[in-house]
Formats: sequence, structure tokens, C-alpha cells
Amino acid sequence: MSAKPLGEFDLIARYFTREPRRAALGVGDDCAVLAPLPPGQQLAVSSDMLVEGRHFLSTVAPERLGHKALAVNLSDLAACGAEPLAFTLALALPRVDEVFLDGFARGLLALADAQGLELVGGDTTAGPLNICITVFGAVPVGQALLRSGARVGDVLWVSHPAGGGLGDARLALEVFRGNVALSGEAFEAVRRRMECPTPRVALGLALRGVASSAIDLSDGLVGDLGHVLARSGVGATVDADALPKSPWLAALPSASRYAWGLAGGDDYELLFTAPAGAKPEVLAAAHRADVAVTPIGRIEASGGLRIVDGQGAPLPQGFAAFDHFRSAT
Ligand code: ADP
Ligand code: MG
Repeated sequence: MSAKPLGEFDLIARYFTREPRRAALGVGDDCAVLAPLPPGQQLAVSSDMLVEGRHFLSTVAPERLGHKALAVNLSDLAACGAEPLAFTLALALPRVDEVFLDGFARGLLALADAQGLELVGGDTTAGPLNICITVFGAVPVGQALLRSGARVGDVLWVSHPAGGGLGDARLALEVFRGNVALSGEAFEAVRRRMECPTPRVALGLALRGVASSAIDLSDGLVGDLGHVLARSGVGATVDADALPKSPWLAALPSASRYAWGLAGGDDYELLFTAPAGAKPEVLAAAHRADVAVTPIGRIEASGGLRIVDGQGAPLPQGFAAFDHFRSAT
């Protein structure tokens, strides 16, 4: 570590500047310069901001935070079926902490390399820890997966890791809050789901031309599915017992099991619809993407969302999605 703290430009040079690959001009000038997309391709763009205390806890390892900041953005590209190209990083840091920056940059750039996208620019300022990333992706004209494409009769599917499901990230948060006790391997597994989500980019690409609609799950299934239903002008029934769940979520009392699976938040899985006859194509896409998918419900003409248990009985509780300006938790 150097005796004097790094200045803004040394910091950018040391941690966030690399040789441009596809970009004509990367970090270091007033703008990045990117080559136009080939004819027949459209640009997909999305931004996500992470604020300490709201989107992540101060206990998170810097490397995982770097990973997550990019992962939540990649999850949006995945939901649209876009191929990742490049991203920018706007960073507010309370101080120059080289241990933090080293880990953060490592986690961030490892995921960027794994997904083949390059960091082309950004902004760095002093301030409360805040990370804003904008991702750019490519999708063939007219093939982007949208929230508006769900049709009556479609099956509702959700992605998940083998042996894991929805609600694991929320379970980890509740352990941090002291509301649930979980130790050793079980805690580490759900903590990874919260701190280190895997963006389902390969699945999004494989679902182009197969799925009728898609969204990524960031605020919880109930709220995110609500967006799909509203944009598509349809309703749905979801079987809460069909939701994929980890053994740790499955072991909880039914109230928290249902609440966190249906509305836990931070899942970063893909929720998508496909015609009932397209089941073989859906399973083949999931196989190609090396991720599990499970059918959890049906799109119906009657508006609104109905949540039932495995016997078809309506669930007694109401479940709300996470809303930054409404939710107390
Ligand atoms: P300007 O003052 O023209 O906005 P800056 O001095 O803020 O430019 O940034 C200098 C260069 O470093 C620019 O190319 C900018 O894109 C890049 N940059 C700044 N912060 C970051 C960061 N956190 N990650 C990647 N590139 C960055
Ligand atoms: Mg400038």
C-alpha cells in the first residue's frame, strides 16, 4: 500500500483501466467510442444503482460486491435476451481504500471477463458508497424478450440453481437480521445466493424465439410477475407449492416459506412464459444454458394474480413486492 492515498486519476488508472478489446476507445478520454452494431442488431441498455444499507450490507466482501453490482445489471440484459457487450461504472467512494478497491475491481472484472463484456468508462467521486452501472448489449431486431408478450394458456416458468430456489437471498438477509438461525454450510449457501447471484445470461439468449415474455426477479416474484401481467393484459394462477426451493427454505414454517419464496426479493432468476406446447424447447434451452427451470403456473384471461397451494386452495395471506418507497423492510 502506498503512503499517500491514491488520487482520483491514479485510482481509475490502477483499478479500472484495461486495454480496449471491441471498443474503439475505452477508459481515459471524455467519451468511450464504440463501433456501431452490425445491421440487424439492436442495442439494449440498462442501469442499476446499488446503495449501501439499502441494496447491500456493509458486511459484504468487496469482491462479492463488485460481482453483484455487475450481476444485477447483467440480469436485466438476460431478461431481454441480449448479449452483453460493454458497461460503464459510476462510483462514489467515502475514501480511497485500496483493500476495498482491489477486491471490488477483482470481483467486478472477473464477472465481466466471464461474460465477455468490457468496462469502457465511468465516473469516480467522493461520497457515500454508491455504485451505478450501465450495461450495453446486443439483440437481433425484434427478438428482445419483453414483459408484454405473455398470452392466455402460456405456462409460467422460473429458473433456479440445482438444489436451490426462490427466497434464498431473503433467507440470508433474515439470518443477518437475527430473525432466523442458520449455520455453517447452509448459511454460506444462502449467503452466496444473496451476495453472489449468477445472472442468467445464457438462458436469456437460449430463450429467444422460445419464450413469449420474460422478466428478471429482483423485487420478488409477486411484484415482478405483476409487471408482466399488467404489460401483457392477462392474469395468472401460481402454485406456491411448485416454487423451486432449497432444503433450507423448505424447512421453514409455511408463513415465511411462502412469503420469502413469493416476495423475498434479490433472487435474480428469470421468470418467463412460453406456450404450453413449447415445453421441449424450454427444457432444451435450459439444458443448453446449464440451469434448471420449473413450471409454476399458467397465464389466464381473467386479470390479476391468484396464488394457490398444491391442492389448488387459495393462500390465506396477501404478499407484497418490495417497493423502495413503500416497503418498511
Ligand atoms: P470527465 O471529467 O471528462 O467526465 P473523468 O475525469 O471523470 O472524465 O474520467 C476520466 C476517464 O476515466 C473517462 O474516460 C471516464 O470514462 C473514466 N472513468 C472515470 N471513473 C471511472 C470508473 N469508475 N470506471 C471506469 N472508468 C472510469
Ligand atoms: Mg469530460
